[in-house]
Amino acid sequence: MENVEQNEFDIAIVGAGMVGASLACLLEHSQLRIALIDQAPVKPGEIPFDKAQPNFDPRVSAITKASKDLFEELGIWQEIAQKRSCGYSAMHVWDAEGTGSINFSASDINQSELGTIVENSIISTALHNKLLTIENLQLIAPLTIEKMIKVQASTEPLLQLESSDGQCVRAKLVVAADGANSKIKQLANFTSKEWDYNHHALVTTVKTEKPHENTALQRFLETGPLAFLPLSAGPDSNDRHFCSVVWSMVPEKADEIMSLSDEQFRQQLGLALENKLGEIQWSDQRFTFPLRQRHATDYVKDNIVLVGDAAHTIHPLAGQGVNLGLLDVRVLAQELIRGVEAGRQVSDSTVLHRYQRKRIGHNLGMMWLMEGFKYLFAEQDLPVRWLRNIGMKSVDNVAVLKNQLARRAMGLDW
Ligand SMILES: Cc1cc2nc3c(=O)[nH]c(=O)nc-3n(C[C@H](O)[C@H](O)[C@H](O)COP(=O)(O)OP(=O)(O)OC[C@H]3O[C@@H](n4cnc5c(N)ncnc54)[C@H](O)[C@@H]3O)c2cc1C
Repeated sequence: MENVEQNEFDIAIVGAGMVGASLACLLEHSQLRIALIDQAPVKPGEIPFDKAQPNFDPRVSAITKASKDLFEELGIWQEIAQKRSCGYSAMHVWDAEGTGSINFSASDINQSELGTIVENSIISTALHNKLLTIENLQLIAPLTIEKMIKVQASTEPLLQLESSDGQCVRAKLVVAADGANSKIKQLANFTSKEWDYNHHALVTTVKTEKPHENTALQRFLETGPLAFLPLSAGPDSNDRHFCSVVWSMVPEKADEIMSLSDEQFRQQLGLALENKLGEIQWSDQRFTFPLRQRHATDYVKDNIVLVGDAAHTIHPLAGQGVNLGLLDVRVLAQELIRGVEAGRQVSDSTVLHRYQRKRIGHNLGMMWLMEGFKYLFAEQDLPVRWLRNIGMKSVDNVAVLKNQLARRAMGLDW
């Protein structure tokens, strides 16, 4: 068995996505020896950025205040903001019939923004640039973990992670940050509750006739929710005509929409949004992602911990997936550092279960809140439609309830 440069670590984080990379950054001053492993090459550097026709990453995230604060603490927010990010100060949600709607406003909760839309590759690049500066970290990529076995070292049990080409890494604690189809979760036999939404999310970027005015729009159609998330054309640009589109629908409908010409697609999309932003003047390449809801029954098993999408995946209508994952790693890092400072091992069960206790209830709460929202808006039964109508009007009129919902979604109350 071949070894990577130095193969024994305190913690091996599998997955250098936004969640795993953030955890590695949070452990920077911990004195722990960290390995961060990813199957894809980790490429720091500059995002190609063409001012004449911005080439946007089709994958974007609505970043909450809590996540922005975390990136500020890690010292990477400035780099993100200097590239491209778009704060949104209002959100308008309405149903297919146009009879019920809710408006959220940042000023109602004394904030300047409800959140910020950022392209995923901009966040990853800023994180990866930061990783290069961390002394107690070894970045091991590309390396695909295929196997995990327990080995008994002289002092304590270790986990040995192996790739198919015979490389291996050993660690006292393995953190699975390897996404929705986590190999580590599978190898360690974690159980989870999951169900197919029978929805695909179609994502693309568009340019609209009217400016978005830093407002996120979400319409619940009979076929699924459609979101327009405001984008900035660049750090010095006042152009407010670009939006990221996330359109969820049954797979057959997604196939049909994918097969349309650009012009036909733009027409259908404009109609689906009731032309709130006028004509769709330009659209980028379209991609689809199948959507599944998953939640692991436990986040901890022996010396293995799940974080981010490896622990839970949620419908993108919530705009919460990566935000919940970032809250996971913030808590996990705090507990690990506190435990080690108190003289405990990194794999100490009390420490790891404290992380689980703090995160599992919050994640489940957010998942059920968003399920309720989806059910209320999507259901076509007459009593539910009536309830939706009354419910939306009531929620819209009860400032306390609405503002609590907004604060929760921003990660301010967790
Ligand atoms: C259409 C869509 C829109 C979304 N919009 C939002 C939004 O607005 N806001 C929001 O908060 N969330 C959003 N999400 C969810 C968000 O994208 C995810 O929650 C987030 O990307 C999960 O990050 P992660 O780091 O946990 O996992 P991932 O990003 O999946 O990273 C996992 C990493 O693990 C690596 N890996 C996997 N297997 C192995 C292996 N065997 N060995 C080594 N490495 C491995 C992968 O290469 C990858 O780098 C959206 C999701 C979708 C589908």
